[in-house]
Amino acid sequence: MKTDLTESVQIDGALGEGGGQVLRTSLALSMMTGRAVELVNIRAGRKKPGLMRQHLACVRAAQQVCDAKVTGDELGSAQLTFEPGPVSPGDYRFRVGLAGSTSLVLQTVFPALANCHEHSRIQVEGGTHNPLAPCTDFLQKVYAPAVARFGMHLSVECDRYGFAPAGGGLIIAEISPLTELKGVQWIDRLGKPHVRASVLISQLDSLIASREAKVIARRMNLDIEDVEIVQAESSGPGNCVILSAEYENCFELVSEPGRLGTKAERVARAATNKLRAFFGSPAPIGEHLADQLMLPAALAAASGDASQLQVYRWTAHCQTHQSVLEAFLPIRFETQTSEKAVLVTVVPT
Ligand code: ATP
Repeated sequence: MKTDLTESVQIDGALGEGGGQVLRTSLALSMMTGRAVELVNIRAGRKKPGLMRQHLACVRAAQQVCDAKVTGDELGSAQLTFEPGPVSPGDYRFRVGLAGSTSLVLQTVFPALANCHEHSRIQVEGGTHNPLAPCTDFLQKVYAPAVARFGMHLSVECDRYGFAPAGGGLIIAEISPLTELKGVQWIDRLGKPHVRASVLISQLDSLIASREAKVIARRMNLDIEDVEIVQAESSGPGNCVILSAEYENCFELVSEPGRLGTKAERVARAATNKLRAFFGSPAPIGEHLADQLMLPAALAAASGDASQLQVYRWTAHCQTHQSVLEAFLPIRFETQTSEKAVLVTVVPT
């Protein structure tokens, strides 16, 4: 059945895992397609449902970028209507508050701004290295080069680090006009991994970083001198282990923020486990990049160009995202699961 691209879209926020991604993708697609969206049961699957400060920051950013008419934009609200106006490229500064993720705000407005004929510059204040969200390094080294394959261009700079709970970080992103939105074939992982490791530390005992470095060196077969320890300037204390693997045709980066009450060794082990798990798959696309590439792939398919992507895992998050994208756009996702990877095809319907 063809989707009617003029009528407003109703999205049930309880879809799939019922998290914040349903909201962000709905906002992004509403801005891009010009279709109004009505969300109910926002984040129904989470312990504290409704709009949290982090999600409200995404709504406000989206509203500003396209001068949308919005109702229900209050903390705790489970309903939202968003009627977009024309998207205006330009210079924007958004504030998430405390350590809310700067990356998630940027990713909400990025596709619509990339779709404009002029350049935009976006500054976002908040957290840069948070749990459960892409850190700035991930945006720079994994997300930006991956979306560039689809024709969408973004560069990101970390001006100030922001760790939970104090936040106070700042990222600055430059968004260039879309060259040509195109589908992508990205199936095999080529070459051997070149592994890099760094430990960010701010206002905490430097022993934490050296204990993490020891575990990383041992578990990733690196010399201890090769684990870079970065004294990160930030307004509050923080620590984050970042590991990356560069292949000939792909890049994966995992991050594990340190937490009060969690031993340094455990933080480092968790990061190394994530990267080792990725080594075990032939897919070029890691589990987080997988859900983040679904939107560009769906947009390309909606304009007639299919994509085929092999991903390490097709998470509950991806399945939720799929439902939202299929509700908005005349496209269809198909998946084929093998032992260590999932082949995802996105086609126009
Ligand atoms: P909620 O509070 O409802 O869980 P949320 O908006 O905070 O919502 P999700 O809906 O779970 O969070 O979306 C989180 C996004 O962050 C997803 O795109 C996910 O892939 C990404 N993400 C989470 N952890 C990482 C990580 N370590 N590296 C890169 N991306 C990550």
